[in-house]
This record gives sequence, structure tokens and C-alpha cells, in this order.
Amino acid sequence: MVGSYKNYINGKWINSKSGKIFKSYNPANGSVLGTFQFSNSEDVDAAVDAANKAFKSWSETPPPKRAEILLKVAEILKKRKAELGKLVTQEMGKQLKEGLGDVQEAIDIFEYMHGEGRRLLGYTTTSELSKKFSMTIRRPIGAVGLITPWNFPIAIPAWKLSAALICGNTVVFKPATDTPLCAVKLIQVLEQAGIPKGVVNLVTGNGSEVGENIVKHPKLKAISFTGSVEVGRSIAENAGLKKVGLELGGKNPIIVMHDADLDLAVDGVLWGGFGTTGQRCTAASRVIVHRAVLHKFLNKLLFKTKQLTIGDGLKCDVGPLINAHQLHKVHRYVMIGIQEGAKLLCGGKIIEGKGNFYEPTIFTNVTKDMVIAREEIFGPVICVMPVSNFDEAIEVANSVDYGLSSAIYTNNVDLAFEAIEKLEAGLTYVNSSTIGSEVHLPFGGVKNTGNGSREAGIEGIHEFSETKTIYVDYSGKLQKAQIEDD
Ligand code: NAD
Repeated sequence: MVGSYKNYINGKWINSKSGKIFKSYNPANGSVLGTFQFSNSEDVDAAVDAANKAFKSWSETPPPKRAEILLKVAEILKKRKAELGKLVTQEMGKQLKEGLGDVQEAIDIFEYMHGEGRRLLGYTTTSELSKKFSMTIRRPIGAVGLITPWNFPIAIPAWKLSAALICGNTVVFKPATDTPLCAVKLIQVLEQAGIPKGVVNLVTGNGSEVGENIVKHPKLKAISFTGSVEVGRSIAENAGLKKVGLELGGKNPIIVMHDADLDLAVDGVLWGGFGTTGQRCTAASRVIVHRAVLHKFLNKLLFKTKQLTIGDGLKCDVGPLINAHQLHKVHRYVMIGIQEGAKLLCGGKIIEGKGNFYEPTIFTNVTKDMVIAREEIFGPVICVMPVSNFDEAIEVANSVDYGLSSAIYTNNVDLAFEAIEKLEAGLTYVNSSTIGSEVHLPFGGVKNTGNGSREAGIEGIHEFSETKTIYVDYSGKLQKAQIEDD
């Protein structure tokens, strides 16, 4: 018997008004993990009302007190890391050590945001007038909507929840339809940690009904969204004047220069390209290699790729794709790559049988105009793009509409710094892969990867708070900025 899970609204676990449910499946074997509420607009309204009712009391709770609950969340997550890490693997598919990493990231961000409870820093500055004091403070925004994808089913909700809550906002949260169980478990942890009723509300269901109703809701003040560019665009159109944070897709390059440590680069490419089965926004999907080392690099990469084990993430290196739709989408892209004239070095096939498995795939001779070099595939497909020099490498790296992560492998410090300056991306790694963000540093991208917002670190606080500017005039007379006295 699988569990049947409910929405969490105003501190109670309740059924959707729709009377409908949907299922979550293990992508490695198709087994059902639970049934969930297929919610509708009435459920969203109820969650938004609860969040608005709870806002006064939560926003007036001193931030260090709010922080105590966040620390408890981190402590509970630590105790349950093994169980929840396994669940991430079962529901999302990534290998177990990455499932555990997903939970660790949630622990880290709740601990970090707990610390922010004693900071939430503004700044003081000078005034152009005498006896006048100037400063800024951070204020909560209100009831906010959070919409998340399936690829980091605990970590991404944790990034948003922890920052939204420490800033004094209340929340309506819609997780991805493929990973609702991880979301339910996370909200149960918040409940166990003592989050007051109405402060966090969970509504499960699909994007076109639940998601859109959240985005358009007149009583929500901000939306924080992580997902595809396509949906991100619709959110930008539907959200009206709300504050909107958009963290979207990527087509991330690793540059391997002629002087790189090739073994190190190969390990970085494998981890970046095939980690999470390529289903990371920061996945290293393009590898731009200097021709002088291309042959040697490809031999090493192929050798190590062939050693990867594919299967259930509980036991293997490369787990399944999230669902059959994604599996066939990846295969369509591989077929396009072949038609475009890219050279298939390995992989390129759906693995028949149970589960959504795809062979780790490497193309070479990929050029920047090819579809497989420009569009986000979101699967275990690496496109190797040979180049003749550093300038060409940078040009190829910057030739896509995305700009999330990037990396360069070189032992030349001048080239490393030039790459840091020239790569059009929100993140640049030197001698390390495109993945591996830490929670006290900002995360986000340029170009079509977003709208300029950043999550985590201090900038995560900025996403979920308003800046208020304060002037205190203690001169005892009317002083006018910019106006000269008669
Ligand atoms: P998606 O855009 O299909 O869905 C994301 C969320 O939006 C889901 O909860 C979905 O139900 C909801 N949604 C769908 N349609 C909606 C609508 N019209 N209005 C409101 N909500 C709607 O993305 P996905 O397939 O879940 O995730 C994969 C994508 O996420 C990839 O493009 C990946 O690069 C991106 N991603 C980005 C980051 C980042 O931080 N930049 C991190 C992880 C994933």
C-alpha cells in the first residue's frame, strides 16, 4: 500500500477541493511512490488566504526567533539525511550520493539562513544635510509564491523556503509534479520544527492550473520560480507587477585549453556532463577543447565514460531520466545531432526494459550553429566542440542564449582571469566543473537564464525582501535636500 498525501494549508493536511489525485513514480522501475492532491484554483485561494492571515504575526516575529525554527529544520534534516537522501534517489532518480547531497544542501541553506536572522543587513551612510541620519533596512515582502522543478527536489525548495521565511514572508509552495513526495516530507519537517500555521502552505498539482493561479494571484506579492525558459517567460508575462525571481535553464561550457591537466578536466567533464544524468541546470553540456589536446582528451573521456554503471541510482553511477517524456526528448536531440553531422562517439540509445535509462552519450565535431549545441537537452549528452585558440573558445562558449555556469581548465593564470572576465555566465569555475555551488554564494545566470535575480547567500535575502530607506532628521528645522536656502 502506497501512502496518500494531502495539501498543507493553514497548518492542516487536507484534500484538494477537486477530489482528484495524481501519482508519483520511481523513474528507475515505474513503481508508485504515493498519491497526491491534483489541486485547483480553490485550493490555491485557500492557501493564499492562510498565508496572508499568518503574515502579520510572522513578519512581526523578531528574525532571530524565526531563525530558531530554521535551525530546528536543519537539525531534523541532519537526523533524517539517510532516509530523505534515499527518497530523493527513489523519486528523482539521481545516484544515492547525489540524493544525500540534495539533502545536505538543504541542511546547509537552513543553517546559513538561520545565521541571517541575526544579520539581515542594511547599511548606514552619510547625508548631504547636517543633523540627518541615513540608513537602509530590509523588510518582508508579504505572502509569496514558490514554484520549483524536480531535479533538486529538496534542495531548491529549501533555498527558497529558508530565504523567504527568514525575511518574514509567508509562503504558498507548489513543487514539481514529478517529485511531490520530497516536497511533502520537507514540509513535514518544517511542521515538526514548529512553523506556525499558515506561514507555509503546500499545494500540489500541475503547472497550468496550480502554477498559473499562483503566478496570477492578486494577493501574492512575489513569485520565485526555478524551471525552464519557456515557463519562465510565461511567468514574466502573467505575474503583473509582482517581484519575480526567475532561475532558468543553461547550456554550460567547459573550456579545456592546450595546457590543461587533462585527467582533472576529464573528471570535471564526466561529473558535469553525466552527474544527475545530465539533468542539472548547470550541467556541462558543451565541452570546448583545444585541438592540440583533442585526441588525447577524447581517448581519456571515452575510457572513463565506458566505466560508468547505468541503472537504479541506489546502486549505479548514472541513474534514470525523470520520465518517459524526457527520455524520448533526449533521444530526439541525439537523432538531430546525427542528422546535423555531429560525430557520435558513444551512447545514443534508449536502454530497453524497465525504467527511463539512456546511454551516456558523447558527440564530437559539434559546431556552434548546431541545434544540439544551442538547446538545453537535459540528459546525459556531452557535445565536444574543437577550437584552435583561446579567443575562439570564448566565442563558442558565448554563442548561446543561456548564461548560467561556465568553466575553464588551464594552468595559465592570464587565460584563467581573461576567461573570468569574458565568459557570459553567472558562474565561472577555474579548474573545476560547472557544478558545485555553495549556499553562501549567490547563484543565478545572465542572458536567457533568468531576469537578473540571484538565490542563496546575501543575494537570496535580497530576492525575498524589500529595501527600505530611512532618513532621521534631528536638526529641529525643515531641511530640504537639493534645494538651496533663500
Ligand atoms: P518546468 O519549467 O517544466 O517546471 C518547473 C515548475 O513550473 C514545475 O513545478 C511546473 O509544474 C511549473 N509550471 C509549469 N507550467 C507552469 C505555468 N504555466 N505557470 C506556473 N508554473 C508552471 O521545468 P522542469 O522540467 O521542472 O525543470 C527543468 C528545468 O529547470 C530546466 O530547464 C533546468 O535548467 C531548470 N532549472 C534551473 C535551475 C536554476 O537555478 N537556474 C535549477 C534547476 C533547474
